[in-house]
Amino acid sequence: MTLQWVLDEIRKRPGTGEVVPIIDPVTEEQLTEFTDCGAAAVDEAVARARAAFDSGVWRGMPGSERARIMWRVADLIEQYADDLAEIDSLNTGMPLAQARAIMPSSAELFRYYAGWCTKVDGDAHDVQMTGGISGAHADLHTYTLKEPYGVVGQIIPWNGPVFIAWGKLAPAMAAGCSSILKPAEETPLSALVLEKILAEAGVPEGVVTVLTGYGHTAGAALAAHPGVDKIAFTGSTEVGKQIVHAATGNLKKVLLELGGKSPVLIYDDADLKTAIPMAAMGIFVHSGQGCICGSRIFVQRGVYDRVVEGLTKVADTVKLGGPKEEGAAIGPLISQKQLTRVMGFIDEGKEAGVEVVTGGHRLDRRGYFVHPTVLTNVDRGMRLYQQEIFGPVVTVLPFDDDDEAVTMANDTTYGLAATVWTTNLGRAHRLAKRLESGTVTLNCQLVFDHAVPVGGYKQSGWGYEYGRAGIETYLQTKSVLTQL
Ligand code: ADP
Repeated sequence: MTLQWVLDEIRKRPGTGEVVPIIDPVTEEQLTEFTDCGAAAVDEAVARARAAFDSGVWRGMPGSERARIMWRVADLIEQYADDLAEIDSLNTGMPLAQARAIMPSSAELFRYYAGWCTKVDGDAHDVQMTGGISGAHADLHTYTLKEPYGVVGQIIPWNGPVFIAWGKLAPAMAAGCSSILKPAEETPLSALVLEKILAEAGVPEGVVTVLTGYGHTAGAALAAHPGVDKIAFTGSTEVGKQIVHAATGNLKKVLLELGGKSPVLIYDDADLKTAIPMAAMGIFVHSGQGCICGSRIFVQRGVYDRVVEGLTKVADTVKLGGPKEEGAAIGPLISQKQLTRVMGFIDEGKEAGVEVVTGGHRLDRRGYFVHPTVLTNVDRGMRLYQQEIFGPVVTVLPFDDDDEAVTMANDTTYGLAATVWTTNLGRAHRLAKRLESGTVTLNCQLVFDHAVPVGGYKQSGWGYEYGRAGIETYLQTKSVLTQL
């Protein structure tokens, strides 16, 4: 499954809609193109997924057998890791080493959820009902069954194509659902390799179907489809809201992993040698195109100047470049559209009097590269402070005490991730309780484990992924009551 194979293969996929170009964000040249699958393909995919689900070919398979297949998927992810990394790095522009580093974790994610295949069970309750509608008293034996939702649509963004796809598929497969995965139109290439891997591992036909198309066509049709029981979406809050509206037709359940405007609090007593580079890469990594990126840094006044200086130094010295450029730690933005959007926020800030300590411009070379940007003197009402930019842009503001830090940290409609840097552990844990955020990291950033649930507070999401909560996302509960 070479790069050339995937570039050719995507051209051959059937489609009835528009031709979609795939652009290399490093050269701004077209890599290949494909045809939008169109709405009819969504109908077909739903019918196939439903047939697979209803036949019981996957959900009815013994859990231990499903687990074995999922382990084979994990082994194949390792076997094809270099191909997957090469394809994802070419398609997104991320450094090859970073794309490679994600692969072992994707394999382990499959092994983690393989373990859950044999552990899906409900609860039993012996209860004495008193005073029901008939006034009867009854001894009841009751139990709950955990059952897969059925057909799930999984719509994912372009910022981590392989990692996010596996993160959606593994728990749904462990639960026994049939998945229809729609990668982003910018980055559909690695999804074709995923399809191959699943078939090679022995996943039955119809359990996972990949649809390649635009969001407003294939994605919207999937979100509105009456034959889809649940939608799991990762992407912008704006599109998440559209999906919620589309889902109302059949009241399908919705899981949303949305945007963030994550605060990072750096205290006077923090280990600044670690905190400064981590906070810098916590926003600049992947050119800020990560929902958990710490895009608002708050610094206690005593070390404010030192931290701004340190962040600026990282911004000015970190190397930007294409996937295979020696020493490049950060790639470009994904597209011209994203470049225009990011520069729009920066230019608006400049006009409003924000101080650009460093950056604020695209690089003088081909590719959608933006110089890592540090902004101060920012008004908290500004769009660039309130909205997710999804670029290498950070605002830095000073604070005096916990109350002020918490007020500013909680001051957006998002609540995805937050970080505290301090050597005072008591304060760190007190702040963890006060921050309105689905994840709080203390003295670390960009950390993750499959066993730990991820979800958004406020407008950062609905529901949870990863860990036990991740498989429960794809299970519904049935209660069975028996009169003894
Ligand atoms: P953008 O591309 O503007 O950044 P997102 O990152 O939110 O938007 O897109 C994430 C995913 O959602 C992509 O797969 C995209 O194709 C899809 N998408 C976009 N618009 C819709 C929509 N109206 N309905 C369903 N999916 C959509």
